[in-house]
Amino acid sequence: MPRLGQGTWMMGEGRQPVAEEVAALQLGLDLGMTLIDTAEMYGDGASETVVGQAIAGRRDAVYLVSKVLPHHASQAGLVAACEHSLRRLKTDYLDLYLLHWRGQVPLAETVAGFEALRSAGHIRAWGVSNFDVADMQTLARITDRCAANQVLYNLEHRGIEYDLLLWCQDHACPVMAYSPVGQGGALLRHPALATVAAQRETSPAQIALAWAMRQPGVVAIPKSGRAEHVRANAAAAALALTEADCAALDAAFAPPHGKQPLAML
Ligand code: NAP
Repeated sequence: MPRLGQGTWMMGEGRQPVAEEVAALQLGLDLGMTLIDTAEMYGDGASETVVGQAIAGRRDAVYLVSKVLPHHASQAGLVAACEHSLRRLKTDYLDLYLLHWRGQVPLAETVAGFEALRSAGHIRAWGVSNFDVADMQTLARITDRCAANQVLYNLEHRGIEYDLLLWCQDHACPVMAYSPVGQGGALLRHPALATVAAQRETSPAQIALAWAMRQPGVVAIPKSGRAEHVRANAAAAALALTEADCAALDAAFAPPHGKQPLAML
C-alpha cells in the first residue's frame, strides 16, 4: 500500500467544479499519490463518480480504496453495495474495501461477505475503519485477513499512539490516517506547527503529513481539490522530520499518557 494517498470526502458535492476535482486527483496521481480513498457515503456516491473520471484510462496505476456503510455490510448488502461502487468508479475491482465503521451486522457475516467478494475477484483485500483495540481484537478472533484500519490521526488527535497503533503494527495491519491535515482548519494555523515549518522552510501541511507518516505502517490520505495543495502534499513524502522537530511538536501536542476513546469524525 502506498504511504501517501488522496482523500475524496466532499468531492462531487458542488463545492468546486468537478473538472477541478478530477484534475487535482490526476495531478496527485502524476506526482505519485497513487492511493485514492473514497466511500459510497461521500456525496451519496458522487465522490466515487468523480474518482471514476479521474482514474479513467489509468486504473492499473491506482490503488483504489472504497468503503461500505455499516447497514450495507451484510452478505447480500455487500454484494449490492460493491457492485454500485464499482459501477460509479467505472472499474471491475477495488484494491481495498473497508467497513466504514462498526454497525449492527455481526462482524463474522461482514467478514464472510468480504471474503466472498475477494474470491469472486471484485476486491483484492478488505479492512475496517474507526475500529478501536477492542473491535480489532474481536475481529482477530474471527480472521487474520484484515488489511487496514482507517482512523482519525493527526497532531491534534494522537490517542491511537497509546495502544491501537502498536496493536496494528504488531499485527502487520497498516493504519490509514484520515484527516491528517486537520481538515485544513485550526491545526494548520497552530503557532508551534508554523514554527517548525518555518525552520524547515516548508508549510505546516507538509510538516503535519510528514509527522503522520513518521511511524512505520502509517499511511496518510490528505484530501485536496487544489493544485497548489496537491503539490505541497505530494512533496511531503520526501520530508523526514528530525528528533528536534518531533520534540517541538510533542511539546505543543502532547502524546497520550493513558487510554483515550478512539476519536472519529
Ligand atoms: P484532511 O485531508 O485533513 O483536510 C482536507 C482539507 O484540508 C480540505 O479542505 C483541503 O482544502 C485542505 N488542505 C489539503 N491539503 C492542504 C494543504 N497542503 N494546505 C492547506 N490546506 C490543505 O481532512 P479529510 O478530508 O477529513 O480527511 C482526508 C480523507 O480521509 C477524506 O477525504 C476521506 O477520504 C478520509 N476520511 C475517512 C473517514 C472515515 O471515517 N474513514 C473520516 C474522514 C475522512 P482544498 O481541497 O481546498 O485543498
